[in-house]
Amino acid sequence: MTEATPNPPAPRGDDGREAADPREVLRDHGLRYSAPREIILGYLLEENKHVSAEGLYLALKQRGENLSLSTVYLNLGVLAEAGLVREFKGASGQSFYDSNVAPHYHVVCRETGRILDVPAPTIDGKPLARFLQEAIEAATGWKVDEPRLSFSGLSPEAQRPDDD
Ligand SMILES: [Zn+2]
Repeated sequence: MTEATPNPPAPRGDDGREAADPREVLRDHGLRYSAPREIILGYLLEENKHVSAEGLYLALKQRGENLSLSTVYLNLGVLAEAGLVREFKGASGQSFYDSNVAPHYHVVCRETGRILDVPAPTIDGKPLARFLQEAIEAATGWKVDEPRLSFSGLSPEAQRPDDD
C-alpha cells in the first residue's frame, strides 16, 4: 500500500473534457515542475492517446518541441511512477503510455496496431482485475500483484474480406 501520495489523481472531467493544468497536476503529486514534464503531460492530457516513447518523441518534434528521446523516456517513467500516466504493453510487448488512469482494459488490433479503451466491468462493485486479485489472495493467503489484463484481436477495419 502506498500512502505517500498527498492527493488522489486529478479526476478526468467526463463532460467537456476539461484538461487539467499539468503544472497543478505535477505539484499535487509532489513532482518538481520541469518544462519536459509539463510538455509531455500536457500532450497526453490533451490528446488522450496511447503512445510509445518513440511515438511521443516524434509527435512532440512535429509540434516544434525540442526534447530528446532519452528525455522523453526518462520523464514518462517518472510520470508513470507518480501514477499520472499508466504504462502498459502493446501487442508486440513494447511499452505504451496512457493518460487515462481510470480502470480500463485495452484491446489491441494485431493487424493495424489500433488500441481501444474498454471500461472495466465490475463485480461486487470492484473492477474485474481487482476482484480477481482479492479472490486469489483470499483463497491462497498470497499477496498478489494487480493483474494486468489485455486483449488482442482484429478490429472491424482488419476484418474486411480479401476478395475484390
Ligand atoms: Zn487506455
